[in-house]
Amino acid sequence: MICDLCRKLLAAEGIAPPHGALAADGRPKKLRPVMRRPVRVFRYGCIDCGANWMLDLDPLKPADSGWTWLGNARSILEPASALAETR
Ligand SMILES: [Zn+2]
Repeated sequence: MICDLCRKLLAAEGIAPPHGALAADGRPKKLRPVMRRPVRVFRYGCIDCGANWMLDLDPLKPADSGWTWLGNARSILEPASALAETR
């Protein structure tokens, strides 16, 4: 189940600050999406509902930055790891 704070973040447009129950998961990574400039990717986990979140920041194009809800998946790049993981 998704908690209220995560639900609000899900509805937020663009860059919103991480909500109170989000804990940073590791250090930000640089990611180079196809046909785009590199973006900085921050990962968070919700202490409340266990959802994983990804925040990508494009410093030059804030409109392209924003949150991605991953649910139980650790990363959109590693879908297999979500299946292998047991929580
Ligand atoms: Zn949550």
